[in-house]
Amino acid sequence: MKPWITAYIGLGSNLHQPLLQVQEAIEELHQHRHLKNLQVSPIYASKPVGPQDQPDFINAVASFETQLGPHDLLDVLQSLEQEHGRIRKRHWGERTLDLDLLTYGHAEIHTPRLTVPHPLLFERSFVLYPFADLAPVFPFNNGLTLNHYLQKVAFDLIPVKKGN
Ligand code: ATP
Ligand code: CA
Ligand code: CA
Repeated sequence: MKPWITAYIGLGSNLHQPLLQVQEAIEELHQHRHLKNLQVSPIYASKPVGPQDQPDFINAVASFETQLGPHDLLDVLQSLEQEHGRIRKRHWGERTLDLDLLTYGHAEIHTPRLTVPHPLLFERSFVLYPFADLAPVFPFNNGLTLNHYLQKVAFDLIPVKKGN
């Protein structure tokens, strides 16, 4: 029997009814047969990083348990992105759905397709704050917790919906 691993993912959207995109993605994760015990942070709005001439983003973080390996899990996330009609227009540009694997248990992964923990997780308010809503004392391998990183990044988000 494969172990159940807890993973955290970041959800983002800024095209085609972003709040609906994120809520539908949450429902699809909830229904997915390879994922269980889904938990979802509150939903926030944030200003875009990268190009500024694009709509604001809707962001949330979700956690679940899975027996999938990290690359199979990335396949699941990328196929959900595709089902939401994702077209990649430009780097850090607008998209209907972005699903980033933030952490996978306490694994450190460096492959051409996957870097985990997600390298920009520690710098982005729209990831750190919803992640901390779910797991404020999440322990990283360097001994630091999420709260440590939060103190370095200003809260610049607009709360949109409470979590569930
Ligand atoms: P960023 O990674 O800075 O948030 P992005 O989300 O806009 O940028 P994408 O275009 O969605 O980047 O993804 C580019 C590639 O990143 C994907 O094809 C995937 O293979 C790779 N990747 C590496 N690490 C991860 C990760 N932890 N989660 C999701 N994708 C990852
Ligand atoms: Ca991203
Ligand atoms: Ca991504």
